[in-house]
Amino acid sequence: MVNSHKILDKILNARENRALQRALFLKQQFNTLSLSLNIPGYPKSNTFISTFFLEVKNDLISYLQANRIEIISKKETLILDEAGDFFIVPISKNSKIDLLELKKLTENFEKSHPLGRLIDVDIFNDLGLPISSGKKKPCYFCREHSAISCMRNKRHTKQEIRDLIFNDILKQLAITTKNNRINTLSGFASKAILYEISLSPKPGLVSFKDSGSHTDMHFFTFLNSAVSLTPFFNEFCELGYDYTGKLDAILPKIRHIGIKAEQEMFKATGNVNTHKGIIFLFGISLFSIAKITSENKEYSDTAFSNLVIEITNGIVKNELELTSKKASTHGELMFETYGKLGAGIRQEVAEGFPSVFTNALPFLDENFKNHQEINQEEIQKVLQTTLLHIMTLNNDSNILYRSNLESLTKVKQLAKNAIHSKKSYIELCNYCKENHISPGGSADLLSVSLLIHFVKNA
Ligand SMILES: [Zn+2]
Repeated sequence: MVNSHKILDKILNARENRALQRALFLKQQFNTLSLSLNIPGYPKSNTFISTFFLEVKNDLISYLQANRIEIISKKETLILDEAGDFFIVPISKNSKIDLLELKKLTENFEKSHPLGRLIDVDIFNDLGLPISSGKKKPCYFCREHSAISCMRNKRHTKQEIRDLIFNDILKQLAITTKNNRINTLSGFASKAILYEISLSPKPGLVSFKDSGSHTDMHFFTFLNSAVSLTPFFNEFCELGYDYTGKLDAILPKIRHIGIKAEQEMFKATGNVNTHKGIIFLFGISLFSIAKITSENKEYSDTAFSNLVIEITNGIVKNELELTSKKASTHGELMFETYGKLGAGIRQEVAEGFPSVFTNALPFLDENFKNHQEINQEEIQKVLQTTLLHIMTLNNDSNILYRSNLESLTKVKQLAKNAIHSKKSYIELCNYCKENHISPGGSADLLSVSLLIHFVKNA
């Protein structure tokens, strides 16, 4: 009893403090807006309730802004005490809106929020009187009666209401976390392919400056393609975030999204293959990164690499070695001719991206951390060197297909020389153009390296 009296005292004191804070604004003749959560019982807050409260607060401020309600942000006050989380801010005297209209506006905010029945936005006029629209809030627990009626009639216990509220808040936080992570991750994917295409000039590849060894596509073909892929990057992430099944069954699911992405790509480019390789590589990469983050594990190169190996386990054997049908795709033909060396991107993923992790990514991590702050020329330089690191290692099946093993060896050597020599870079670009060579596989791996770097840097 003594204890519950003590708690009640603490809560009442805290409420007194809030009234004092409001009185301070009243003295300056401000109308005020405040926000609190309806948490029955004690304690009224904890870490996740506070996190949720801040999310609601930020959302409310954007909502007010969108409705052209001016608040005086520099006077806003956040309190966390025995009475829970509390936010109060004076409304600018420039805001000409009628207070009853404002009250209705904030009631709409509460109504449109998934947990709106928990949220209380209160408006007080400059005489310190609350503005009410006369509407009663429904009960959080049963939604059948008004909250006041259920409280007066003690229809539910405090504990059962609290359990439900805590559960709902945790679910809501998980939804926003997931959405934020997926948006960020698919944004990184788009950014990575835009950075790749913007590196100019590139050996044999399409760039802003020229189309390299290609005659059927140019820079803008790639922009069209990049935009068409964005929704599918989201889908790959979503799949990775939610997937709890067996990993050896995932490849067809990733490919299913990939095939839809390819169809959109061909539509966007007038039937040109711009990003087929990237769709496959990003499908696997985004799935893997999203899966790692959904388990609340810190991203690590090893965890990522191992997951990619696990997903693509046996891909070379099953799809190239053991296939009984006659080789027809580029990849199958190259495998038939060159064995593992010609297994291209399948070999790369089956080994967990060695061309990315050996030199390219360490170089990016070292030199691209503050890429938002460096100038265009420096960005080009870093991207170029990263691409060259990849080209020195990657057995690019695009080169084997369009040319032969001798050319691949020559390109690898030229790329190695070009890391430290501008002259050699020009020589490499010329060699590729003259011999109609396009190291598309390496360009795709540059995009993968960028994606991973952005994730690590976030
Ligand atoms: Zn009820």
